[in-house]
Amino acid sequence: HYQPQVKADTQKITGFEALLRWNNKKYRLVTPDVFIPMAEQTRLIRSIGLWVFQTACEQLKVFQDRFHEDFSMSINLSIEQLRDDDIANKINNILRDTGTNAANIQIEITESIAFDEDTVILQRLEELKKLGVSIAIDDFGTGFSSFDRLRTFPIDLLKIDICFVHGISSGSQKDRAIIKSIIQLAKNLGMETLAEGVETRDQFLYLQEIGCNYMQGYYFYKPMPAKEIASLLQAKPEETPGPGD
Ligand code: C2E
Ligand code: CA
Ligand code: CA
Repeated sequence: HYQPQVKADTQKITGFEALLRWNNKKYRLVTPDVFIPMAEQTRLIRSIGLWVFQTACEQLKVFQDRFHEDFSMSINLSIEQLRDDDIANKINNILRDTGTNAANIQIEITESIAFDEDTVILQRLEELKKLGVSIAIDDFGTGFSSFDRLRTFPIDLLKIDICFVHGISSGSQKDRAIIKSIIQLAKNLGMETLAEGVETRDQFLYLQEIGCNYMQGYYFYKPMPAKEIASLLQAKPEETPGPGD
């Protein structure tokens, strides 16, 4: 499935996040929290991850060609994929074979990546970055990012975790303060921010007011199959739709 991401000031769709589902005959649509941990344990995630990467690149091309927009595609990469020392080469081949402009691809790595593998991960991220893709830190604020990591890793965007975003609605001053600080920190480090799991108008308005760059969540769009995305973009060819449409 693909979930649209919007620019905070215009609410226009700028890109999509590829979110894997397993369409199983018996269990119907299985969500990734059920099978990704197993795929990681068995290392199957390496081949599944490359399939996701290829499929998402092909789909991006279809969206771009059909709607003449410079959309981006965010793709989740598991730590297990980063342990593959040939990953940058494999991704480079997919980019080349699918005719994808690396500048339109964003790789998402969750913040909870293992502490003791910093040098390996830094090396992989630098190799990936050299291909021209951008790098986002997922679930930011819940894991192990130290200031040292923020300083040394080649990061372009921080994805503010859903738990802080939901805190906006419950009136949590602490959550609001944390979000503001993340946005300031990102700005000062020359990075951008995306808020995840935006579900309500008050969350949207607050995040817009404090200068968050991008948003993603049910308030705008749910993750959906490519076909539904195409109908959505088709519905208003002159302007990509905003919330409530
Ligand atoms: P994630 O990368 O943090 O993805 C965001 C999750 O939040 C997605 O769950 C998405 O459907 C959900 N979400 C989006 N908007 C909202 C909202 O407004 N409210 C709420 N409550 N949830 C929202 P999903 O699709 O079940 O994916 C779960 C996790 O599985 C992802 O978390 C990601 O870590 C992992 N995952 C998904 N696809 C892949 C993949 O291709 N490769 C790898 N390695 N991991 C993947
Ligand atoms: Ca993600
Ligand atoms: Ca996340």
